Amino acid sequence: MNQFIPLSQPSITNLEIDYVTDVLKSGWISSLGKYINLFEERFAEYCGTKYALTTSSGTTAIHLALVTYGIEADDEVIVPDLTFIATANAVTYTGAKVVLVDIEEDTLCIDPVQIEKAITEKTKAIIPVHLYGHPANMIAIDKLAKKYNLLVVEDAAEAHGAAVKGQKTGSLGDCGIFSFYGNKLVTCGEGGMITTNDEEFYQKAKHLRDHAMSSSKRYWHDRIGYNYRMTNMQAALGLAQIERLDELLSRKREIFKLYEKTLSNISGIKLNFTADWASNVYWLVCLEIEGYTEKERNNLMLALSHEGIETRPYFYPISDMPMYESNRIHTPVTHKVYQRGINLPSYFELKNQQIDYVCESLQVYLARCLNLIG
Ligand SMILES: *Cc1c(COP(=O)(O)O)cnc(C)c1O
Repeated sequence: MNQFIPLSQPSITNLEIDYVTDVLKSGWISSLGKYINLFEERFAEYCGTKYALTTSSGTTAIHLALVTYGIEADDEVIVPDLTFIATANAVTYTGAKVVLVDIEEDTLCIDPVQIEKAITEKTKAIIPVHLYGHPANMIAIDKLAKKYNLLVVEDAAEAHGAAVKGQKTGSLGDCGIFSFYGNKLVTCGEGGMITTNDEEFYQKAKHLRDHAMSSSKRYWHDRIGYNYRMTNMQAALGLAQIERLDELLSRKREIFKLYEKTLSNISGIKLNFTADWASNVYWLVCLEIEGYTEKERNNLMLALSHEGIETRPYFYPISDMPMYESNRIHTPVTHKVYQRGINLPSYFELKNQQIDYVCESLQVYLARCLNLIG
């Protein structure tokens, strides 16, 4: 094996190192300090929202948002069946029921037609997920939310900077949540953010994030809150990343275009789709092979790993997981798509010739499969 190409890797420059070093030297290493404020201000500005609130992770951001809205046992929250488990688990933490809904085959995001069918008297909120960097159909979802009086919490953990008709994710629902895990578009190591235009919601979420401590009477707590704070060290890293976000996203687009140039001519292959109303940030390059079963997909991933290429499978349907067995419904699109999809190395510092190598390895593998069949 002459090289190893990982799926994902953060981009850390001197800017990140300088900011984090500044925090360490200042002694403000915990959850107070100037970088928290700077990061929140800069992030809100980037998304076009009035407020942004840092949290300890994307998962805690979703949980905090739902708790702040008063979502609790007996409520129902609609979530796509194809997403990272955190989206569903954060709903479960509140005691509310996770209602799983199928996705659209092209965008891989939650299907508004299926959302409407799943709405009941108990439905309180929808969590559309902007999967792999493509925004969910927020135009249709917004109409449904208005019609049925539902909250919309955008899960933008994988879609920093993506947009619908020019309007950025995080500003399209009642609130948006982001993740800054190590493999996300912006990283703090671990961390999250809630964005919103609603001042009352923002103040309430901020209060709950800090154990619901009274602002006028220290160490007095009027309800059960959480410690979901981010540290100043994480925020310093995040600030450097958001200052570089446009540069990072333009490299992501280039990476996708390079893969597309070679792979899009191969019949039976589908890469990331972009709707005409959407701006895609290509968090991960998606490759689907028509008709593939889970086993065939695993064989492909194994063959690529022998060439030193790391890939990962699409998320498994949430409804297939044992703890969500009782939420199971018929989601044929999710079940078709997850088996045939993988993500290819997509990180910022990937070299063009490494992309060529991945494409070549794929072409060789697929040609060999065809010969075996033919
Ligand atoms: C990463 C991710 C989360 C959770 O974020 P963490 O920071 O890892 O807690 C939530 N939803 C989606 C779609 C994600 O990809």
